Amino acid sequence: MPKLNIYVDDDLAKRIKEYNLPLSQICQNALWQAVEETETAVCGYDCRQPAVFFIQGEGGSVYACRKHLTTLLTEGISTVRSI
Ligand SMILES: [Zn+2]
Repeated sequence: MPKLNIYVDDDLAKRIKEYNLPLSQICQNALWQAVEETETAVCGYDCRQPAVFFIQGEGGSVYACRKHLTTLLTEGISTVRSI
C-alpha cells in the first residue's frame, strides 16, 4: 500500500494526537469521497454538463463545464484546476 504525506497546522496535529484519531482511515475516507465527487462532478451553473474544471474563488468553490469557465474567467477566479 503506497504511503502519502500530508501537512496540517500545529494545532490540528496536536488535537489529532490528543483524541488519538485514526488518521490514515479518516484521510482515506475523505480522499475517496473527493475522488468520487470529482469523477461524477457536473457543472454548478445549472447546465448539468459534465464538469471539466474545479474553480476556487473568493466566494467558494464550484465545478464548471468548459462553456461556463469562459464566463467565469471575468469574475475574479483565483484558482482553476482541470479535472
Ligand atoms: Zn456549465
